[in-house]
Amino acid sequence: VQSKINPILSGHGKSRGAVIVFHDVTELRRLEQMRTEFVANVSHELRTPLTSIKGFVETLLDGAADDPALRNRFLKIIQDETLRLQRLIEDLLTIAHLEGHENRADAASDKVSYVQKAYHKIKPVILSIAQAKGIQVDVNLSEDLPPLTIGEDLLSQLLLNLLENAVKYTTEGRVWLNVQVEPQFLRLEFGDTGCGIPADRLPRIFERFYRVDKARSREQGGTGLGLSIVKHMVEGIGGNISVKSTLGVGTVFICNLPRAKH
Ligand code: ADP
Repeated sequence: VQSKINPILSGHGKSRGAVIVFHDVTELRRLEQMRTEFVANVSHELRTPLTSIKGFVETLLDGAADDPALRNRFLKIIQDETLRLQRLIEDLLTIAHLEGHENRADAASDKVSYVQKAYHKIKPVILSIAQAKGIQVDVNLSEDLPPLTIGEDLLSQLLLNLLENAVKYTTEGRVWLNVQVEPQFLRLEFGDTGCGIPADRLPRIFERFYRVDKARSREQGGTGLGLSIVKHMVEGIGGNISVKSTLGVGTVFICNLPRAKH
């Protein structure tokens, strides 16, 4: 609590009392702390791959490049770390973009559904991960889905983040997307038969940079930002997202996207 005391003076300059104003700064402090933590996390996440790239380039220049096997191994690491940096920067730019358009529906002018179009853009990425692991992908999108208030690009990104997570955190079985038309919303259900999320971790998974298993996320090329971006996007247009998960059985994300009014 911040307090400020102002004396009340009589006409002769004599003190007659005081006004004490208390400001509850808990929320401000919390936001300030979140911002500081975010900047610290961003710095760490950017520095780690950069340090690694710098180190391997130096080692290559110092002579390791003469050994073909070593050279290829190091170049592969440099490539992976560069891709990680690229993903991170793209996610950070998306966050900056979303923050600049707070609570403004990215209204689509189309009167026809673009859900299928949005999915077709990201389908190859999802199928290539799924096929490499032998996971079945069932996406059920009917032809005549209603138009939404979310723009096509944001919708593509939402589908990519949730479906990519589903195939990334599943080793066998199935990943699905079911869609149901409701009066106000289009209800999207993303399910998987993957590793699941422990109940005590569930409340935190939408936080920026939060990962249940840091090593696993890293190995899968995750930035820890995907779900926070999705939540930000969905809530910004008046929708909502929730999750149910059972450890070792699978996870279901339910996302309600507002329908456009004709
Ligand atoms: P990441 O880039 O690490 O995947 P996200 O923000 O997309 O970051 O997800 C945060 C964390 O939530 C992940 O690190 C993972 O631990 C967990 N998670 C997300 N989706 C799933 C899923 N479908 N199954 C199991 N765990 C998941």
